[in-house]
This record gives sequence, structure tokens and C-alpha cells, in this order.
Amino acid sequence: MAQKGTIRTTAGRGRRFDSVLDTIGDTPVIRINNLGPDHVRLYVKAEAFNPAASVKDRLAVNIIEAAEREGTLKPGQTVVEATSGNTGIGLAMVCAQKGYPLVVTMAESFSVERRRLMRILGARVVLTPRAQKAVGMYKKAVELAEKHGWFLARQFETAANADIHETTTAREIIGDFKGERLDYVVTGYGTGGTVTGIGRVLRKERPETKIILSEPANAALVGSGQAQERGADGSPATGHPAWNAHPIQGWTPDFIPAVLQESIDKGFYDDLIPVAGPEAIAAARDLASKEGIFTGISGGATFATMLKVAETAAEGSVLLAMLPDTGERYLTTPLFEGIAEDMNEEETALSLSTPNHRMP
Ligand code: PMP
Repeated sequence: MAQKGTIRTTAGRGRRFDSVLDTIGDTPVIRINNLGPDHVRLYVKAEAFNPAASVKDRLAVNIIEAAEREGTLKPGQTVVEATSGNTGIGLAMVCAQKGYPLVVTMAESFSVERRRLMRILGARVVLTPRAQKAVGMYKKAVELAEKHGWFLARQFETAANADIHETTTAREIIGDFKGERLDYVVTGYGTGGTVTGIGRVLRKERPETKIILSEPANAALVGSGQAQERGADGSPATGHPAWNAHPIQGWTPDFIPAVLQESIDKGFYDDLIPVAGPEAIAAARDLASKEGIFTGISGGATFATMLKVAETAAEGSVLLAMLPDTGERYLTTPLFEGIAEDMNEEETALSLSTPNHRMP
């Protein structure tokens, strides 16, 4: 922790950034001081420090820039993508900066602040019925791309997804733990880009580090052992039978994405640990109120999984959990259930404890 008694100083980053896009990545790894058992050291990698506040900023800029390099995205062409929110918000930031129109398809079940964030960043949001799940929003994006000649971002299949985690997220972990012990890295999956990118690098350069994958207990697609049916282009043919609605937004769509399949096929994780929605929410709240680290439900889920691993980890083990986004994206979700707007009894009593400036 910071030295007590000295005045905190900073010196800038030693550079000026040419655009908001250059501020993506290099997110901090932060020590956990007030949660978890004493015999281990816990860290989190806080992806909320990205400019549009999630891990998906990385993939968004890379999908667009890879398509620009390959010539598959033309100047001024409309970009379309199916997303549970963070990819859409990241793409909206990138498209705003680079001048591409963006259309996002999203199931109505994801938090409404996500829609409004995309719209204020200039995107159009086309909602799809909750009952048609992730496959529905995915197929709508394909349909729109075909009909209007738009560029489909294809986050669930594109090589640009895991590649950016290989060249940035994983490199940052390698750099930040250089010469240090790192026993476990814990992550969940949405597309699987994070785990696949990290797996490619850590398996080679830190073979002693165990990679732990987590998924919702009531939507344990990978744990079910049932293969995903998919088309020749890797896209899902149908929804996966093991899927059930879960509150961990951004995790585990109702199919096993092609990007994640690489991790399954190449054995990029050492253990698969399910986590229940309420555990995820409780962990995110603990991180906020006991560490001052504000993350979404998937961050809570990943942290809760890390705590399970920590219980039986050897003395002195070092563990790292990915925190994919910020808790502010969840104001209307169960993460904030019971977090009141009005004063409670205790707060009212405090107000009354001095004579002035009371509420009527
Ligand atoms: N958490 C949240 C909130 C997300 O939006 C995502 C991405 N959909 C993830 C976790 C998972 O990341 P990845 O797609 O790299 O597996």
C-alpha cells in the first residue's frame, strides 16, 4: 500500500494520446487487501480502466482495424454486430472516432443502460426478443448485414478477437508478473476471446500458471460435455441444450462460440469451476464496499471463483482474476437490488441529529 505520511505525487504518462483509441489496454493489476484468506496473495486486472470501461474495447478496436487492413471494411460502411452490450459500447466508441455508422442487435434482456450508452455514442440499437436468446440477436445481425451490405463484426468467430488478447491482455499479464510468482489466472467467457488469448501465451511462457475457467452454475455449457452444433463458418446452428437464463451478463451466451472452442480443443484451462448468480452478485458487492473496486456481475463471478480456488491453494500462492467491466453498467440490474435512492432510517436519524439543512 501507499506509504503513509508522504504526499502523493504523479508525473503524467510521459506522452500525449493521438486519439481515445490509443488509451485502450494497459489496465492495472491491483492487489486485494481486505478480502480472501491470509495465506495467498490476490490480484485483479481491472478492465474498467479502458476508455469505454470494459475489456471489449480491445476487441472492438482490433476488429475494425483488422478489417481496415484487410480491406473488408470500406470507408463509411456501416458496421453491424450482435452483442450483450460491452462489445456494442466499445464498437460505438471506435466507430464514433473513426466515422463508421454502427447498428447493434441486442436481446431486450440486457440492462437498459447499455442501450442508452450505445445510443449516446452514436449507435443505433435494434432489440430482439428475450425468448430468442443470444442466437436470435446473432441471426438478426447476420440478416441485416446480408440485406443491407453491412460489415458484420463477428466477435464470436473472428480471429481478431483472441488475437488482441494474445498481443495485449496476455502480454500485460506477462509484463506485470515478470520475475514474480503467478499460480492461477481466473476468467469466465462470453466469446472466449480473453481465455483463448491468455491461454496461447501463458501455456508457452508461464506453463506453471494454472488457468481456471468459470461459467454460470445453471448454464454450464462447457461442463455439460455436450458439443455445440455449428455451421461451416463456425457460427452456432442451434442453442445449446445446457443453457438457462442467468444474471451474469456478458458471460455464456446460449451457444459455445468458435473463439472459445479453441480453448476447449487445446486444453487452455486446467479446471472449470461453476459459480452461481447470487455468489457473483455478493462478490461484486464485497469488492465495491470492502475494496473500493467497482465491477460488474461477471467481475464478481470471476472474483468469487478465485476465492474458491484460494481456499485450497498452497501457502504463498498468487492468484489473478479478470474484472471485465464497471458496476455502473448494472444500475437497473440485481447488482443494485436493495440499494436505495431514498434515505433509510439510519440516514434519516443522522439528518435529524443536527438542527439545520434537514429534508422536509
Ligand atoms: N464479462 C462481460 C461483462 C462481458 O461483456 C464479456 C464479453 N462479452 C465477458 C465478461 C467475457 O469476455 P470474452 O468475450 O473475452 O470471453
